[in-house]
Amino acid sequence: MEFRDLKAQYQKLKKDIDEAVLGVMERAQFISGPEVKQLEAELAEYVDVKHCITCANGTDAMELVLLAWGIGEGDAVFVPTFSFMSTAEVVAYLGARPIFVDIDGDTYNIDPAKLEQDIEQTIKEGKYKPKAIIPVDLFGLPADYDRIVPIAHKYGLKVLEDGAQGFGGSINDKRACSFGDAATTSFFPAKPLGCYGDGGAIFTADDELAAIIRSLAVHGKGQEKYDNVRIGRNSRLDTMQAAVLLIKLKAFKEYELDAVNRMAVDYTERLKNHVSTPIVPDGFYSSWAQYTMRLESQELRDNLQEKLKEVGIPSMVYYPRPLHLQAAFSYCGHQEGDFPEAEEASRCVLSLPVHAYPQSQETHKVMKCVIDGVHQ
Ligand SMILES: *Cc1c(COP(=O)(O)O)cnc(C)c1O
Repeated sequence: MEFRDLKAQYQKLKKDIDEAVLGVMERAQFISGPEVKQLEAELAEYVDVKHCITCANGTDAMELVLLAWGIGEGDAVFVPTFSFMSTAEVVAYLGARPIFVDIDGDTYNIDPAKLEQDIEQTIKEGKYKPKAIIPVDLFGLPADYDRIVPIAHKYGLKVLEDGAQGFGGSINDKRACSFGDAATTSFFPAKPLGCYGDGGAIFTADDELAAIIRSLAVHGKGQEKYDNVRIGRNSRLDTMQAAVLLIKLKAFKEYELDAVNRMAVDYTERLKNHVSTPIVPDGFYSSWAQYTMRLESQELRDNLQEKLKEVGIPSMVYYPRPLHLQAAFSYCGHQEGDFPEAEEASRCVLSLPVHAYPQSQETHKVMKCVIDGVHQ
């Protein structure tokens, strides 16, 4: 059994993907070919945001936005401590200070009430100047933007939606990657919309920001090719990856997103009386980057994972260690107990296989083994 069945997906889409990739090789426009432009137009339309700029990966995407905003030394950027490394790494990399915020234990997303407390505290201490918030759409569920955006406005902060896991999700039919001042996503193969290598994208309605990011991503280019107006970098999406993504985006829109939601709904129906199943608040729709349940203790979680392994069912712990306890962030001076909800989640969560291509009986087998496992 596969945790995310990319092989089954390829078999289903093989004819179209092979043709698209071969076409790129024949036309030999490997960098900035027409597929890249077409993909950006289709992504912008799907998300319903004016600009989409593709780039090399989801981490670069976030860094490009923060760079364009001029975030650096002395600035504070608020990030949930329960996330993938990139969310805080990009802040630190630019010399700014990641200020970790605890999560809501129900949704695993940044807790707006704690966010506001931490902003107040940072202002009071006066050491770093609050500049931005990076809410993460963890596991595919959009963060609570209806509460986060007003807080950002109150304190004059930018909002960067880290939609690496959120692509395809929505709140009241407004799609993920459209929230805040800018949003980013990742096309890492296992994400909701993945390519066959690394890739990423930035979304924004802001014309000026979009122009700066386009320039930064191509060596700070100006009007012409060898005109450089700022210090940038090289961060582009390959034409080959864009060609693959055009095929995958079509499947994603036509049936994959529905299919992964059906698998998640099946899980929740069967498992809700046995473990804590994921909560999707009213009006929210998840793209199920992960299906993450919660056990009552680390011991029960580890036992269940072992039992699933014995019968060939892959499961994962996202994330075994919150960011504030990572060695890389030891300079921030945090210790265990600082963010109890995130720490508790790290001890008790377990993610099950979820994707659009379950084989017959696969969902059933996982559910049966989870139920047997927790009652043994
Ligand atoms: C995967 C991921 C990223 C980074 O994406 P890459 O394309 O791997 O650089 C950023 N944030 C979150 C929450 C992610 O899951």
